[in-house]
Amino acid sequence: MHDQVCADLIGSSPLFYSLSGLIGYLFFTAQRKSFSELFVLFKSHNLLSAMVDGIFPLTSWKWEGIPLPKLEEQPDEPHLLSSIDLTSWVVNQLRTSRYNDVRDIIEGKKDLVRLIELKERRERGDKVTATIQLTRQQRFSSSAAYLVTEPTNKEPCQQCNSRSSSGPCALCIAGGPELFTGACTNCQYSSNASKYTFYAKK
Ligand SMILES: [Zn+2]
Repeated sequence: MHDQVCADLIGSSPLFYSLSGLIGYLFFTAQRKSFSELFVLFKSHNLLSAMVDGIFPLTSWKWEGIPLPKLEEQPDEPHLLSSIDLTSWVVNQLRTSRYNDVRDIIEGKKDLVRLIELKERRERGDKVTATIQLTRQQRFSSSAAYLVTEPTNKEPCQQCNSRSSSGPCALCIAGGPELFTGACTNCQYSSNASKYTFYAKK
C-alpha cells in the first residue's frame, strides 16, 4: 500500500521536480557538512578570536598553556626583557611577518616548545647578554624555528660552543636536514649555516 502511494506520487510528479528536489537535497547536505567542518576548523585554529587579514592574534601563541602577554610599549632594549616578554616581542614580529616561510613555521605550532633565552657570556668579568634584532629573513625564520622545534641534536654545534659565535640564543637547536639544511637556528640567524657541524653537505 505504502509502496503504491509512493509510486503514484513519483509517477504523478514531473521528472523535472524530482531531479531538482534531489539536487537541492544534495546541495543542502553538502552545505551543512562544509559549514560544520568550517566551524571545527575555525575553532581549532582559534580563528574566531579577532583574526585580521589572515594574521593570528598574539594570544593564539601559548607558553605552558597560557597566552603570551601583550607588551604595553615597544622596548628600547629588548635583550633586557624577561624571557616571556622577549618571546612575546619576537612572536609579535613573526606573526605579522611578510615572509611566508616564517609565517608557516610560527603558525604551525602555537604551543611554544621554548621561550627565547639569550646567550650570556663573561667579558672581563662583566656579564654580557647577546642582542637579538629581526632585520633579515634568516633572522626571522631562525627565531621562529627556535620557538617551535624539537631538537634532533644532543650536543651543541662547534659554532655555538665557540666564543665567537654570533647566534643570539642560549641553546643550539637543530631540526634535522629538513630545517635549514641541518644548520642550528643560531647558525641560520648569523648566516653561518655552511660552517655548521651538522650541516648536510650536498
Ligand atoms: Zn649551534
